[in-house]
Amino acid sequence: MAAVLVYLTASGGAVDDVSLQALALGAQLASGDAVHALVIGDEAAAGGLGPWGASTVHVARHDALGTTAPDAAARILDDLAARLGVSVVIGPGTDTGNTVIARAAARGGVPFAANCTGATAGNPITVTRLRWGGSLLEEAAIHADRAMLTVAPHSVAARQTGGVAAVETFTPELDPADLVVRAVERIPAANGGVSLADARVVVSGGRGVGSAQGFAPIEELAGLLGAAVGCSRAVTISGWRSHTDQVGQTGTKIAPELYIACGISGATQHLAGCKGAKKILAINKDPEAPIMSAADFVVIGDLHQVLPAISAEIRRMRGA
Ligand SMILES: Cc1cc2nc3c(=O)[nH]c(=O)nc-3n(C[C@H](O)[C@H](O)[C@H](O)COP(=O)(O)OP(=O)(O)OC[C@H]3O[C@@H](n4cnc5c(N)ncnc54)[C@H](O)[C@@H]3O)c2cc1C
Repeated sequence: MAAVLVYLTASGGAVDDVSLQALALGAQLASGDAVHALVIGDEAAAGGLGPWGASTVHVARHDALGTTAPDAAARILDDLAARLGVSVVIGPGTDTGNTVIARAAARGGVPFAANCTGATAGNPITVTRLRWGGSLLEEAAIHADRAMLTVAPHSVAARQTGGVAAVETFTPELDPADLVVRAVERIPAANGGVSLADARVVVSGGRGVGSAQGFAPIEELAGLLGAAVGCSRAVTISGWRSHTDQVGQTGTKIAPELYIACGISGATQHLAGCKGAKKILAINKDPEAPIMSAADFVVIGDLHQVLPAISAEIRRMRGA
């Protein structure tokens, strides 16, 4: 048993799925001991977290917390962990989660294990974590009074176990130095509002798409399916799409119901980002492409013919 603090990220009054997954690992590690959760700024998101495993939700409220400020978040997390005397701090293994937990670990001088897929309480705590883009699973023992971990997205299922959480609001101590690094502007993604990380269907294009304009049939199909558009690194390096669309080891890791990979060869670093998909449909001219062995369904052909045909059939079936 170990008292645990889980850092949750939230927006628009709701905690995101990856944070609920981190909370599930926290509840498992605590095994009956206190599961503290921290929400920064977004007070509306603090309700309803008891069933997801939290025993107390701490809400940090401060006038300066209207924007993303990783050093401020790290200080709040580190101070709260010390005040509560917890032995484990967990966060979501997203860009934000890893950034904040790494900074908090550096502040507190404690070890940080990123991208864990599981952990066992004890002294030392043992963790399993993804290395080398997911091609290696590492078992590690953390010898420390306090360990900090992040949970690889979609490797632990969020679980409703019942329960009611107390909500405690506090005003953290912050200095101007904590707010030097902060987001000054937010540019909405040009994807019609479906986020790549949370989309149930992702239609993704690789070098085989040929150009930025070549993404038109991918966007058309994504629009029909209510899907997000993704891409490979060959595409972002070519400047055809922004890095926020990249799936893979150095992009976003996703676990949709369906991943449609068009003109993507299936390099290890790409598969590291999409192997959590429940089903993969590969559309590729090359029957020997590595993606074929990772796929559940394959269409061997030119994506510029296959995709318009799929979209036309969907329209026909919908009578549009
Ligand atoms: C440290 C590191 C990190 C990396 N991180 C990532 C990452 O996060 N994400 C990522 O994607 N990559 C990553 N890479 C790059 C990765 O190794 C591959 O180079 C990249 O994924 C290849 O992209 P691709 O599949 O689009 O291109 P290619 O490998 O060139 O494949 C193109 C495919 O398109 C097919 N094709 C061509 N024309 C058509 C057509 N008209 N119709 C149908 N099929 C067609 C071809 O048969 C081929 O299979 C990383 C590499 C390194 C070294």
